[in-house]
Amino acid sequence: MILTNEHNLIRESVRDFAEREIKPLAKELDAKQEFSVELTKKMGEIGLFGMIVSQEYGGQGLDYLSYIIAVEELARIDGSQAATVAAGNSLGMNPIYYFGNEEHKKKYLPRLCSGQYLFGFGLTEPQAGSDSRGTKTTAKLENGEWTINGSKIFITNASSEITLGSIVQVVSGVKGQDKEFSVLIVENGTPGFTVKTMHDKMMWRASNTAELYFDECKVPENYLMGKRGEGSKIMLSTLDCGRLAIGAMGLGCAQGAFELALNYSKERVQFGKPICKQQAVSFKLADMALKVELARNLLYKACWLRDNNKPFAMEAAMSKLYCSEVAKEVADEAVQIHGGYGLMKDYDIERFYRDQRLLQIGEGTSEIQRLVIARYLGC
Ligand SMILES: Cc1cc2nc3c(=O)[nH]c(=O)nc-3n(C[C@H](O)[C@H](O)[C@H](O)COP(=O)(O)OP(=O)(O)OC[C@H]3O[C@@H](n4cnc5c(N)ncnc54)[C@H](O)[C@@H]3O)c2cc1C
Repeated sequence: MILTNEHNLIRESVRDFAEREIKPLAKELDAKQEFSVELTKKMGEIGLFGMIVSQEYGGQGLDYLSYIIAVEELARIDGSQAATVAAGNSLGMNPIYYFGNEEHKKKYLPRLCSGQYLFGFGLTEPQAGSDSRGTKTTAKLENGEWTINGSKIFITNASSEITLGSIVQVVSGVKGQDKEFSVLIVENGTPGFTVKTMHDKMMWRASNTAELYFDECKVPENYLMGKRGEGSKIMLSTLDCGRLAIGAMGLGCAQGAFELALNYSKERVQFGKPICKQQAVSFKLADMALKVELARNLLYKACWLRDNNKPFAMEAAMSKLYCSEVAKEVADEAVQIHGGYGLMKDYDIERFYRDQRLLQIGEGTSEIQRLVIARYLGC
């Protein structure tokens, strides 16, 4: 695919920022499990939030491919910061931009686009992961207020000190045998709403992940997003776009791991020559380069479809599945090429190896992506 000058400029400027501002901090933030407000705000200052949101609401009105290239470049250096940006845009902002009313958009989007604030996307519950229709959190409408009870788990960006609130899927009623799902906005600090940061993750340790608890939490009737009963449509179509960003994280992680392995293989000498001159190692590197290139082509094609208003949901699922699995394979081979050093925390590849693991699970596991693709094939 031929990229425009604008796409290339975005890649160069995000790459420069990631090398300069993120790389020197990534290992330490990961070790300390520290979500950096300062770094998040800096990413906001260079325009990494609200890239696809129109200028009217404080965004930049760029195409989806521009945003995906930016996420790819962040993930090439660090999964945690890429996660903050990808979740901030795809999950925190997109539902408000595409389904919020004018009041919601004006109230939240300019602040979210500045990157000085974040929003969470609360779908997953302890008993409802892949099966989002298993949602148990309820909301009852009475006297112009929704009363929410229940909990959510694993919600990215939901409990940082710059989080404004989350959008959450709730069961708002029952129609015959079926649950009626709706989406509500809940602001942090609302009585009856508690957020609890989750620690000790294996990966993305410098990103913010939270549990949400609702205990007789009341929000105004107009905090309903879209129409009552449109919950699944809003959440699932948000995930269609979110999959492109997870694909970009897989691609960037694979690219970064590949580069680390390539550079290491040119420096590490065994049996009197750099290990990249051993055919077994060079063939590994050739396969890694091939997979990264294939992943990039698949993902960019899915973005092109979306940017040209063509159906893209199957290709988004394929991209998420393939890019995340390529990240796993490439990171694994990259550790192998590093030998024992690849298992030491001093070496960045160790972090890449851990960070890639979430990508086959978050926003729909690899199995669920296969289910989605199979459905499009009519199976
Ligand atoms: C760090 C992190 C950040 C996250 N951020 C968010 C967020 O911002 N918002 C949010 O809502 N969620 C978030 N999640 C949740 C994530 O999307 C879920 O973990 C994921 O959807 C899987 O759900 P589960 O963990 O409950 O696994 P389960 O659904 O219990 O699945 C367990 C296993 O069973 C398999 N399985 C289940 N059903 C089927 C089936 N029908 N066919 C074949 N295999 C099946 C799965 O593929 C998986 O291998 C996050 C998770 C993590 C770890």
